[in-house]
Amino acid sequence: MIKTNIKLELNYSYDSVKDAICAALPIKREEIIDCHLVKRTLNLNDKGGIHYDATVAISLSPEREYGLLKMRKRVSEYPSYELNIPQSKLNTRPIVVGFGPAGLFAALILAECGAAPIVFERGLPVDERDERVKLFSTLGILDTECNVQFGEGGAGTYSDGKLKVGAMDKYKMKVLKTLVECGAPEDVLFSSTAHVGTDRLSGIVKKIRERIIYLGGEIHFSSRLTDISVKDGAVCGITVKNKENEEKYDTDALVLATGHSARDMFILLSEKGVALEARGFGIGVRLEHPREYINELVYGKGYPDLLESASYHLVTHLKGGRSVYSFCMCPGGTVVPAASCHGGIVTNGMSEFARDGENSNAAFLVSVTPSDFSSDSPLAGIELQKKIEEKAYSLTDSYKAPCQRLGDFLNDTLTGTLPTKPTYPIGTEIHRTENYLPEFITDSLRKSINDFDDWMRGFYYPDAVMTGPETRTTSPVRVLRGESLDSLNIKGLYPAGEGAGYAGGIISSARDGVIIAERILMKNRC
Ligand SMILES: Cc1cc2nc3c(=O)[nH]c(=O)nc-3n(C[C@H](O)[C@H](O)[C@H](O)COP(=O)(O)OP(=O)(O)OC[C@H]3O[C@@H](n4cnc5c(N)ncnc54)[C@H](O)[C@@H]3O)c2cc1C
Repeated sequence: MIKTNIKLELNYSYDSVKDAICAALPIKREEIIDCHLVKRTLNLNDKGGIHYDATVAISLSPEREYGLLKMRKRVSEYPSYELNIPQSKLNTRPIVVGFGPAGLFAALILAECGAAPIVFERGLPVDERDERVKLFSTLGILDTECNVQFGEGGAGTYSDGKLKVGAMDKYKMKVLKTLVECGAPEDVLFSSTAHVGTDRLSGIVKKIRERIIYLGGEIHFSSRLTDISVKDGAVCGITVKNKENEEKYDTDALVLATGHSARDMFILLSEKGVALEARGFGIGVRLEHPREYINELVYGKGYPDLLESASYHLVTHLKGGRSVYSFCMCPGGTVVPAASCHGGIVTNGMSEFARDGENSNAAFLVSVTPSDFSSDSPLAGIELQKKIEEKAYSLTDSYKAPCQRLGDFLNDTLTGTLPTKPTYPIGTEIHRTENYLPEFITDSLRKSINDFDDWMRGFYYPDAVMTGPETRTTSPVRVLRGESLDSLNIKGLYPAGEGAGYAGGIISSARDGVIIAERILMKNRC
């Protein structure tokens, strides 16, 4: 196949894609055997009006493809992204701990290649998990084993499901194709703004689970890893606590995909002497503007109806080296309570597929590095997160979140009214943001607003509302991996996904799961 770049109207069809190809290349319609989009980006800055810039893969006869490639007429080869992993038989069944994107995809690949993985997940299957999540978001009753962070599908299940893909490779293609086969909209394969929506994610996760079981995998919920057995510097088994008792399982290939919020896991790894290091992450608040206001800022007044709710992504680098950035934008979404420990407040964001809620929110974060932590311990970042989360809780003495009008934050006042209604469902109380965030963070947030307003005129909207804290932006710890991708000092222990510190977001965590599974299988080739 070959590929070329084309422009498309917002309301393009399969036919108009073919027309655009024929306008871009010296070929006739009837020569096109097949074509499909591989990339689509909204272009807001072209004088000709809002349209899509797209890359399209085209199948022609081999002679025509060869001829066009030779002439270099605005075409290049479209590579194959097939993932080919041979069937393998391992000495022991591989174990996957954690059933978020990394664990799901590691288990799927292992199952597809005949390795019959056993999965342990501390939380519940997604339907029962839904009830626990609702109990927390309506009544503030938190289940520390099953919540927005823990349970089937991992942290990604209650999210906007925006899929940040970046440069395509065979691992990401495997993830995206699987998502589409299991119910994600087809445009996740090519759209730069693709999202699945929290309302569709649970169905997709269930279908992947069914595939793993059909292919010989086993999945145990309410089953928490409590210990790892090591012999001669290599993993030989694990202990798992389920509802009734503790059980031991033997294995020499353990995929540890427990995410960034499993603090007990980081403590266990530290006690076991596993090589760890502290790493930087982001801390700040969720910032909500009215959705329509953001749409008009991004698209202009009277924008075409065909456009979906608008997103933004802003970054500034302050003097002194600190960065402030927006993150995980949820257009038309809500701010969600994302705590997993008693006595601490954590916020995050999610949207349904329609992205049609009143407000649009994004995290508004300041970069923190190990030099901001109070000790040299690899776990010191967790201490900073905990301190902030607990301070916020102590302000409201409940899981109601502290919030403040953006204009008040900038002027260091409290007016007591909130024209933009916060969407955090448990409830909010007005408090000064510095009452729970360290001064270096609030100072940096204040300093960034002018820059953000320069980038996106109108970003500074005094009636926008800040709800916080947002502390679980990525892993504060890295579990060091060697060349063979297992732990630097414990063979057969494969840290995977966001908690390992090598990924961030649904796609890169899932991709990491695929890579780890491939590595385990290749090591044990039949
Ligand atoms: C509210 C919210 C919205 C988000 N929105 C987006 C988005 O729109 N797009 C995006 O790309 N990313 C988003 N993210 C981030 C994304 O969810 C994560 O990057 C991703 O889920 C990380 O995948 P993972 O598999 O590495 O870990 P996780 O998804 O965290 O999964 C880890 C799993 O391990 C389990 N576990 C932990 N400890 C144990 C144990 N001891 N024993 C057994 N099981 C254990 C947990 O219960 C959990 O299910 C969002 C996150 C949140 C919380």
